[in-house]
Amino acid sequence: MMNELLTHHWIDGQPYAGGQPVPVVNPATGAPLGEVLLGDAEVVERAVASAQAAFPKWRNTPVSRRAQVLYAFRDQLRAHLDELAELISAEHGKTVDDARGEMARGIEAVELACGVPGLLKGEFGEQTATNLDTFSMLQPLGVCVGVTPFNFPVMIPLMKMAVAVAAGNTFILKPSEQDPGPAVRLAELAKAAGLPDGVFSVVHGGQDVVEALIDHPDTTAVSFVGSTPVAHSIYRRGAAAGIRVQALGGAKNHLVVMPDANVGFTADALAAGAFGAAGQRCMAVTTAVLVGDGADEVVEAVRLRAEGMILGAGSDPATQVGPLISAAAKERVQSMVARAIDAGAKPVVDRSTEVVPGHEGGFFVGPTLLDHVTPTSEIYLQEVFGPVLIVLRVNTLDEALELIRTNRYGNGAAIFTASGTAARRFQRDAQAGMVGVNVPIPVPVAPFGAGGWNDSVFGDTGLSNAAWRFYTQPKYVSARWDEQVGRDS
Ligand code: NAD
Repeated sequence: MMNELLTHHWIDGQPYAGGQPVPVVNPATGAPLGEVLLGDAEVVERAVASAQAAFPKWRNTPVSRRAQVLYAFRDQLRAHLDELAELISAEHGKTVDDARGEMARGIEAVELACGVPGLLKGEFGEQTATNLDTFSMLQPLGVCVGVTPFNFPVMIPLMKMAVAVAAGNTFILKPSEQDPGPAVRLAELAKAAGLPDGVFSVVHGGQDVVEALIDHPDTTAVSFVGSTPVAHSIYRRGAAAGIRVQALGGAKNHLVVMPDANVGFTADALAAGAFGAAGQRCMAVTTAVLVGDGADEVVEAVRLRAEGMILGAGSDPATQVGPLISAAAKERVQSMVARAIDAGAKPVVDRSTEVVPGHEGGFFVGPTLLDHVTPTSEIYLQEVFGPVLIVLRVNTLDEALELIRTNRYGNGAAIFTASGTAARRFQRDAQAGMVGVNVPIPVPVAPFGAGGWNDSVFGDTGLSNAAWRFYTQPKYVSARWDEQVGRDS
């Protein structure tokens, strides 16, 4: 009998054992929840062989049938939404409500992919020369690999896998080993929806497994989301292997507050954007850039909110800020805050070492607000990935835009203002891939795709709707049909 607490790989439509178990830890207590098997070369070989074998039949499955399977998958996800939200919360630590929100965005990505019959049409040019027609079609690549981060264990895998599979590819997901359970549940639900065995597999593992997947001669593309150093190394490795690569990396998202912005509305957005999900969102608001007069009022309003937010386990309905993913993450964030204060930042709220009663072993870091941070400090230049909001003060919108331009990252940027002129200037000139106007976390809805600029992305286009071109290759056909093509009779 299978051990319920041991997360297996999913290969060929069933659980697969291989490699070594490592613990999966409950971030709210620090206690083990179970184990996950980290794969090896043999597991990778199995998964790729299965995906390669499934490809010809899936590629030839009519696109309308593929869409039906995706609709059924969407229904499965809806029916199991609460169960999956609880699993996400247990392994990741985010609140169950937040996990429901993640599920909703993931389902949106599957719904986008259900539209594949209309979205993958080619072009046709009639009589482009004498008796000659020219047309194009978008064909799948084959075995595609997705490598995903811990912070959205359902949404990001679905943003990749749904489009890849709808386009006729087979897909191997390598989720984060820190919260691996939801990925396998997705595979089980996809099978229940009628997805043929081998079309969607899940392989757990670390760097060696990722590299073996990229280097495999049957792999055609790798889509990565995670931290910038790993994104860059995946980009280089994929390029060396001659395959398609999209590698989305880390972030430092600025929220610029103009002097005319409503203080309460803006402070709500800053607190939710910075401290929600314990700051473990690639689009988290990490940096408030306060322009001109009125900065003190904004800091004071955020202070009240930061002090009032409830830190606790994600399973507790009262919780607003859950734990970080690991002891290492907690230690990293706490030490960055301490160094920032040593370097001169003013701790308006410092809950970074707060302990949650009854959860002393949990990886908690409370909402922390640091004012008067300088553009050369570590806490401004490095991604923190925790519930820490830093404040920089500038005199003009130009200075704010220059800060964003010179920062190495370019995922999201937002402006809060009542001025259409300032907003329009910002949306044109902000050097970031996703821009918000009075919206703190501007992740576009699925029909628009998503992705950053600068060191927040390497390689090809973004996720969701921007991924159709990534997961297909165009073929251009020139066809002549005239009297000469047959034998003379
Ligand atoms: P991570 O880079 O540590 O890990 C991401 C994935 O890569 C995991 O599956 C992990 O097992 C694997 N991995 C780790 N080290 C590797 C290596 N050396 N070689 C190959 N694979 C390796 O990231 P994380 O901590 O899981 O996630 C948080 C990061 O992801 C943050 O930097 C965040 O900003 C970023 N992120 C970015 C986006 C985006 O859209 N740009 C979205 C979500 C998260």
